[in-house]
Amino acid sequence: MSDPRALGVLQRVFGYESFRGEQQAIVEHVIGGGDALVLMPTGGGKSLCYQVPALVREGTGIVVSPLIALMQDQVDALTELGVRAAFLNSTQDWQQVREVEQAFVAGELDLLYVAPERLLTDRCLQLLERGRIALFAIDEAHCVSQWGHDFRPEYLGLSMLHERWPDVPRIALTATATADTRSEIAQRLSLDQARHFVASFDRPNIRYRIIEKNEVRRQLLEMIRNEHEGDSGVVYCLSRARVEDTANFLCEQGIHALPYHAGLSAQVRAENQSRFLREDGVVMVATIAFGMGIDKPDVRFVAHIDLPKSVEGYYQETGRAGRDGLPATAWLAYGLQDVVQQRRMIDESPGDDGYRRRLGQQLDAMLALCETVECRRVRLLAYFGQNITACGNCDVCLEPPETWDGTVAAQKVLSAVYRLGKERGQRYGAGHIIDILRGKSSERTRQHDHESLSVFGIGADLSESAWRGVLRQLLAKGLLMVDHDGYGTLALTEASRNVLRGETQLMLRREPEKKARSRGGVRTKAPVIDLPADRMPVFEALRAWRAEVARGNGVPAYVIFHDATLREIALAEPQSLQDLGHISGVGARKLEAYGKEILRCVSRPG
Ligand code: ADP
Ligand code: ZN
Repeated sequence: MSDPRALGVLQRVFGYESFRGEQQAIVEHVIGGGDALVLMPTGGGKSLCYQVPALVREGTGIVVSPLIALMQDQVDALTELGVRAAFLNSTQDWQQVREVEQAFVAGELDLLYVAPERLLTDRCLQLLERGRIALFAIDEAHCVSQWGHDFRPEYLGLSMLHERWPDVPRIALTATATADTRSEIAQRLSLDQARHFVASFDRPNIRYRIIEKNEVRRQLLEMIRNEHEGDSGVVYCLSRARVEDTANFLCEQGIHALPYHAGLSAQVRAENQSRFLREDGVVMVATIAFGMGIDKPDVRFVAHIDLPKSVEGYYQETGRAGRDGLPATAWLAYGLQDVVQQRRMIDESPGDDGYRRRLGQQLDAMLALCETVECRRVRLLAYFGQNITACGNCDVCLEPPETWDGTVAAQKVLSAVYRLGKERGQRYGAGHIIDILRGKSSERTRQHDHESLSVFGIGADLSESAWRGVLRQLLAKGLLMVDHDGYGTLALTEASRNVLRGETQLMLRREPEKKARSRGGVRTKAPVIDLPADRMPVFEALRAWRAEVARGNGVPAYVIFHDATLREIALAEPQSLQDLGHISGVGARKLEAYGKEILRCVSRPG
């Protein structure tokens, strides 16, 4: 029972042939006045789920979004499509605000973007009373979740929309939600009547890779040079200092990198973000403050050089790669120090025990993903309650790691920790334990007479990096813990005993040795846009034309057309406006505005 109006809007306005996945069901449900909670991965096509109903239903669709910095781009993109869109936020002067308000009251807007804190003001609520509302779309709905990584207190106030406008359908959307977060969203936004639409969270074009960290800046540089030279990418770090440091390093190495973190002025942040969106091949080095809602379709890689705090956050961040569906990379480097540091941060974090326990569980899930010998994607999707078979496009599938019986090695570590733990008031971190196991003499081993311990030198058979791997996995499995002393001292856990007594066999993941480690880099870069050689000049001509138009209009290039659309045009060689209109991504307004110039590019690319 499909609604012909919805398909008509999709084809005429957006230039797309058909709906994807659940889009049609969602769109029809909302057009019919129903509430919806939509879970789709980044790049899944959430925007159309509220944009199409807003165009079909009478009145204006009100979009609640925390992303003030992106509203201009979102409105520009809609305007390019011929949709009447505007926003209200703190960047506007009163004159601009008044114009938007008048347009809304006069029924001249299809979509109106509003920040949540703005929406909840009396002025805004009174304004909304004076116009006609087609629907409320609550974007980035996970911001209402207090346990999540993007909590925004203003979101808690949004449940009032339902009380004030009980007949207006509401659609909440997010790209990140475990079952827990999902019910939390439904409850806090009073969406108990809402139908839930949960799309597959798989993003098959993203290649997942998690490697052992040693010299992380060099490893990062190698990955970029070997696989993503000249591509747009994001590098996530945990601290501001690390952002600055890494951005400088990449710049010194000739990579066009920019920093982004909350310590920079709003102006610098806006400028760097705008360059990332508008210029080709910019690498953004950022804290997680960067990226939510960035809909740049051609981000080719997302790298994490510090261990993310949760699988949920990690999946959301990596999802920013490859929204255009073309091949992309998610790359994470992590090591023993990450585990120690994060456990310590959790211990020192404010909040009650329940809160810390929750952080600990999130970290455990992240560690289990890192140490898994199973397909990464199977693990990732299982976290969101979805089952798939091994993906063939992650490091584990492509180069299955070996496992080995690490029971004896683990016993050696645990007895060393046990021995040292008996020395009152002394604090020994992972490095010292490894020195003792390997029988490496140091000032500390001599000073504390640790060379006479029975465990001294019992682990000379394994390399230092292998021992780090063992310690890391013991920490990840909860067989060792970081003591609460703030120094990273290692201690035994309840579960350690079974291993010490030889009651459990422990299978560990073998860390690839140096040679193997760089193997991923040998892979030559696959072209993202594959076109026959004779079609390339047309594609290049179209890109050059697009760059000029985008500059002229002051918008990012992808707002004009995506690479995938240009590629299709170059392949199809349309000879008439009618042919051109059949290409995916070419809607009525763009056909009218750009059709002739495109046909000219196609016929005379030189
Ligand atoms: P999300 O908000 O879920 O991350 P978007 O709404 O930005 O995803 O959509 C991702 C990309 O997919 C966009 O470039 C969009 O134009 C494209 N897209 C979405 N739906 C369709 C469709 N039905 N047909 C073709 N392309 C689509
Ligand atoms: Zn896999």
